[in-house]
Amino acid sequence: MQIVTRFAPSPTGRLHLGHAYSALLAHDFAREAGGAFLLRIEDIDPGRARTEYVDGIIADMLWLGLEWDDEIVYQSERLETYAEALERLKERRLVYPCFCTRADIAASVAAPHGPDGPIYPGTCRGLADLDLAQPHAWRLDVAKAMAETGPLYWMDEQTEVQAEPDRFGDVVLARKDAPASYHLAVTVDDAALGVTDVVRGRDLYTCTDIHRLLQALLELPTPLYHHHALLADANGDRLAKRHGAPTIADLRDAGTDPAQLVEGMRAGQMPAGYSLAKA
Ligand code: GLU
Repeated sequence: MQIVTRFAPSPTGRLHLGHAYSALLAHDFAREAGGAFLLRIEDIDPGRARTEYVDGIIADMLWLGLEWDDEIVYQSERLETYAEALERLKERRLVYPCFCTRADIAASVAAPHGPDGPIYPGTCRGLADLDLAQPHAWRLDVAKAMAETGPLYWMDEQTEVQAEPDRFGDVVLARKDAPASYHLAVTVDDAALGVTDVVRGRDLYTCTDIHRLLQALLELPTPLYHHHALLADANGDRLAKRHGAPTIADLRDAGTDPAQLVEGMRAGQMPAGYSLAKA
């Protein structure tokens, strides 16, 4: 079987060193196996995605010397495919419309926090009176879905991990303002592109539980996962979380030699002031 990996940035800003490290690992994983490395632009958030950042991603990847195979995949061109997947879940009543605003959810005293913010208290689950003309999101009924699938597992490197998607509560699969969520689009696309190995940062480790559940519900194959350590700055702050980290464009403007940068990172030597964060 041919190994297929991908780098899947969201064009909501310029790439920083952490992105470069992630892209490099995914690229090398495929190249060392004689496989394919794909570039997928995750531009489904109409409020945040910008074409100038897409151009920036392409320029940065070329500057780093990380060449991808095939055409670039744009999620914004695949909305119908996500809508079809959502439709299948609607038919099985595994999703329900949710009319709550962020403020409603934040104000709910019962809302405990999960890995991704407040857990949805389930206000709209089982609502009898639905007016689908009102703006609404679609949420996955995670308890119902898990009852259908039974226990699920995925592989992180050599370790089998039992999925616990319920720790996120009923996640949103389609937003009021965006026809698909990250979780739905990433799961559908990794399968559609034949991705065998997902190489990405540890910040997305827990999300894999949701992706595994969606794979089971949509009868999609499960890739192998390789979650890598994140880059941190001298204060130990992870670049993924930090704003204002130097971008690849900054490094280029400062005269950095891209081949040296990439070779250094390949050998585990991060540029001065950066290191891999402990898990
Ligand atoms: N688009 C996601 C991000 O930029 C990454 C998706 C993934 O690798 O699964 O954080």
